[in-house]
Amino acid sequence: MSTRVFLVTGGSRGIGEAVAVGAARQGFDVVLTYASNEARAASVVQRIRDAGGNAEAVRADTADEADILRTFSVVDSCGRLAVMVYNSGITGAHSPLAEAATETIDRVLAVNLRGAILCAREAVRRMSTRSGGAGGSIVFVSSRASFYGSPNEFVWYAASKGGMDSLTNGLAREVATEGIRVNAVSPGPIATEIHRPGKLEIGAKRSPMQRAGTPEEVANTVLFLASEAASYVNGANLVISGGL
Ligand code: NAP
Repeated sequence: MSTRVFLVTGGSRGIGEAVAVGAARQGFDVVLTYASNEARAASVVQRIRDAGGNAEAVRADTADEADILRTFSVVDSCGRLAVMVYNSGITGAHSPLAEAATETIDRVLAVNLRGAILCAREAVRRMSTRSGGAGGSIVFVSSRASFYGSPNEFVWYAASKGGMDSLTNGLAREVATEGIRVNAVSPGPIATEIHRPGKLEIGAKRSPMQRAGTPEEVANTVLFLASEAASYVNGANLVISGGL
């Protein structure tokens, strides 16, 4: 049986790191991408290899098509792409929309949405049984922000995740007969470095469970959706927010 490759974008820390480590534990060969934090990416790779797994890190800006294509050629050199998790994401500086710079809006949409669409296209090209692939699973890391809209903080971020939700809906139906399942998760406040100081605590208080989630709690759901245990789950968007 050929090697099953699990690609996770933004796997150097936070939710992506937990997904990468969990996927390796399940026996996948992991390819993780990172934007700039080479040391953190290397330490995740080392953690996986120390536990007996296989992992590679690729420096890639998922807003950049050439970087995406290079990432997928690394995947191809490792084996058969079985799972693609699009996790890389940024918010941009916080402000009401009226004060936001065009560059911030463009950058967030390019990383969070355009990158997700291009990575999904590359994944489908490899996984589709219609083009000789063996099927696979795609999971998008969206956000509860797409529902609440993040007013006065980053409505463009929420909009990018809303686009990702539509992408999940449409692509799940488009490739359902090609052996590919497409799902999403929508986390609420999760304890990672994405938050500016104090923000996580405010989110945790808003959650009915009165706490933030952990990256592992999101990763567990991502890994479930990617797995055969979810073989009839397609087009789902699971909220992981303690009820928020
Ligand atoms: P994080 O701790 O800030 O980690 C972000 C990851 O994405 C890092 O690996 C980072 O790489 C990578 N990244 C950033 N920009 C990138 C780019 N242009 N190209 C490729 N990789 C890039 O974030 P997180 O909290 O784990 O968030 C992961 C995902 O969950 C995001 O999509 C976020 O929107 C979503 N989410 C998070 C929360 C939350 O409360 N934490 C809630 C809802 C949704 P470097 O290490 O090299 O910078």
